[in-house]
Amino acid sequence: MIRRVLVPNRGEIAVRIARACREAGVESLLGYSEADDIRYVRRYFDDAVPLGSGDARETYLDVARVIDAARKGTADAIHPGYGFLSERAELAAACDEAGIIFIGPKASSIAAMGSKAESRHLMQRLGVPVVPGYDGEDQNVNTLTTEAARIGFPVLVKASAGGGGKGMRIVRSADELRPAIESAQREAKKSFGDDRLLLERYIEEPRHVEFQIFGDGNGNVVHLFERDCSIQRRHQKVIEETPAPRYSDELRQRMAAAAVAAARGVDYRSAGTVEFIVTPENEFYFLEMNTRLQVEHPITEEVAGVDLVRAQLALAGGGTLPWKQEDLHQRGHAIEVRIYAEDPDDRFLPQSGKIAFYREPSGPGVRVDAGVSQGTEIGVNFDPMLAKLICYAESRDAAIDRLDRALRDYIVLGTKTNISWLRRLVTHPAFRDGRVSTRFIADHEESLQRSTPEIVPAIAAVLSSIPKQRSQRSAGVASVWDSVGSWGRA
Ligand code: ADP
Repeated sequence: MIRRVLVPNRGEIAVRIARACREAGVESLLGYSEADDIRYVRRYFDDAVPLGSGDARETYLDVARVIDAARKGTADAIHPGYGFLSERAELAAACDEAGIIFIGPKASSIAAMGSKAESRHLMQRLGVPVVPGYDGEDQNVNTLTTEAARIGFPVLVKASAGGGGKGMRIVRSADELRPAIESAQREAKKSFGDDRLLLERYIEEPRHVEFQIFGDGNGNVVHLFERDCSIQRRHQKVIEETPAPRYSDELRQRMAAAAVAAARGVDYRSAGTVEFIVTPENEFYFLEMNTRLQVEHPITEEVAGVDLVRAQLALAGGGTLPWKQEDLHQRGHAIEVRIYAEDPDDRFLPQSGKIAFYREPSGPGVRVDAGVSQGTEIGVNFDPMLAKLICYAESRDAAIDRLDRALRDYIVLGTKTNISWLRRLVTHPAFRDGRVSTRFIADHEESLQRSTPEIVPAIAAVLSSIPKQRSQRSAGVASVWDSVGSWGRA
């Protein structure tokens, strides 16, 4: 059994893990940066330990500090969440060395999947299809140029160590290649300290479909179905749903088998995700494996009726794989949207400020995984994702109706958010039809723009809630009116 888990992370994922710990009877310890407003997140934890007072690099990303915090806080396990150190083999190895349980895969599996080029080599050995491309050691510009011509334009230049869409360049003709390679190398060096590149055929209008897998580290692996994450902005996911619309069972089963083979190939332990890109002709190719819990894991939990974090805790505490493949079923439809403090009317620039009023939607099939509440200060040091809204219903149509309603009921004042924009997105007729691809947002940019101000329902909702607020908590009233005022000017 695990006794006490350190979570060196922040926001909604820290809360998510703390909740699972409490249900499992495990103590939780938050490792935090003093530059972060942790007041909301802290409530869910039994204890908290500072990782320092700096930005991410000096706190959440510092392996030595994290191990030290675990020791000081007498944690016997670390759950890294996602982002930060979650995919750094170095942390998993440091845990092994310090006698701390790392809740996640083995360091060797993380390392094997850490490089896009190396994971492509591995997949080819396992017979899992990869995007036609070049993933060789020779990084000479002339070699890359010859290889690009062989692959055929357009090609996608990618950083082998990449993530978060960084170091990625679409190249449509030979004369654009050299500058693209140079700038991708610079960005990769800066972001990952590694400038190696790979080339892939650029697939026009693809879909991004990934499989949740879960292994015990002894070769037993199950999958918990797919997630369609095709609705993206600048290669970053905005909406995720499961099941993937408009795909046959036969195609999904073939992809599931490839995902399980990929995970078995690295002796996978704990929760992980195998990502594929799918052409309009329904050919699928391995993209990469994420060796951690994914942001969008809740939609899988909703349709499969599981708790992935509790399963991670149980396995790390010496348990066995909690499911057999035949016990797992996909029921209904779940969709997740990511709520950001950003301004869709101004290039999606991240916003900061204090959340002056906050009200989450609720009701049947509505789940909110949030990392903020009323009064939280949104700073500039960290990711501006505030929360995830997950709606579940018996069908895709009903899930969209529910999401539309829940977004309408979601009120955040004091900082701009993408809530109204998300509503336009999920109610778009093409989305309703399931005609999704990674180009969706770019293709529908104009119709997703605000036409008339959509602030009326939100304002009405806030105003109608004021008398109740006043009788319950008179101190909060002034700030509510302040926020409405400043919002009105915005
Ligand atoms: P990162 O690790 O930086 O997120 P990925 O390899 O996972 O990069 O790709 C992110 C997204 O970029 C994919 O979901 C897809 O939208 C797009 N993409 C990746 N590879 C290709 C490709 N070969 N052709 C077209 N789009 C691609």
